Amino acid sequence: MVPQKTSNPEKKNRINFSILIFFVGLLFTVTLWDAYFNGGRTFEKELASNLILAMGILFSISAGLFSWSIESRRDYLEREVEKRTHELHFKNNELESKNQEIENFIHIISHDLKAPIVSIQGFATILKEEAKQSLQPGQMEYLDRIMANVKRMNALILDLLEFSRVGRIEDEKEKVDVGGLINDLLAELRPQIEKKNIKVTISEKAPTLFGSRKRLGQVASNLISNAAKYMGAPANPEIEIGFVNEPGSALCKIFVKDNGVGIKKEFHEKIFQIFQRAPNTLKEEGTGVGLSIVKKIVELNGGKVWVESEEGKGSTFYFTWPLAS
Ligand code: ADP
Repeated sequence: MVPQKTSNPEKKNRINFSILIFFVGLLFTVTLWDAYFNGGRTFEKELASNLILAMGILFSISAGLFSWSIESRRDYLEREVEKRTHELHFKNNELESKNQEIENFIHIISHDLKAPIVSIQGFATILKEEAKQSLQPGQMEYLDRIMANVKRMNALILDLLEFSRVGRIEDEKEKVDVGGLINDLLAELRPQIEKKNIKVTISEKAPTLFGSRKRLGQVASNLISNAAKYMGAPANPEIEIGFVNEPGSALCKIFVKDNGVGIKKEFHEKIFQIFQRAPNTLKEEGTGVGLSIVKKIVELNGGKVWVESEEGKGSTFYFTWPLAS
């Protein structure tokens, strides 16, 4: 919202304050001048008193002017701050509406592309089935490639659609028992975890958080499945899920730690941007959208997400989320 400009009642007080300083100085000078004459007048005394009077008046004027210039400067700076804040709010609103436009665009594009992709996928499958006998091995390979690319495109569109959905509809918030939620997620991810022989540990007692169970689940699921996906082949593959409750904080810090391939430092921030992937020796497929969805969900819930990692030494993803009161 753009702040309303308000008239400044303090400004008048400041001018009055400068005048007050002038008059106090003047009063002090006159009192001194008057006191000096007590006990008779001589030529020397009269000269000295006139000098006091002149200097006193000069001093009072300077003090008044000095105070006035300081106050004016303060007024100017306050006006500047007000102006800049106004500009900043305007730019913020502009940025928000541009972001909204981009998200609407992504939503429309991904939504409209979904139907033709599904259709291509369907017809390619039928073609493969029906022309199986008559196709040359090379032609079959082309068809397989078409199908693999269509599958990838479909995954990309579904991810984009999901990205644009986050925040579009207000999610219902509730108290979420994170222990139960993580157990459900681990059951879903069991094939991926068992295939790589990964030991999963949950350290600390899981807290109760506040938010959408679906969105919180999406965040945790993304981080845990990435930990398994980018595990590589260490001697003892391990994923640790933990919670840190800092005293006095309304947010809980949740971490997912793995001893997988790790991420080079220069990609620590980039990987949270849409379509950004970090290079590694693995040939894992992906769209580079997952972590941008994670970031969007976490930030919409007032939290932060970041990673600590070293190439070849595993990664720890952290995010903060509101605790249930
Ligand atoms: P995707 O997995 O589809 O590529 P994400 O947005 O989930 O997309 O991840 C972005 C990139 O971050 C991945 O391509 C990978 O390079 C890196 N990354 C994410 N999680 C991990 C992890 N636990 N260990 C190593 N690299 C990771």
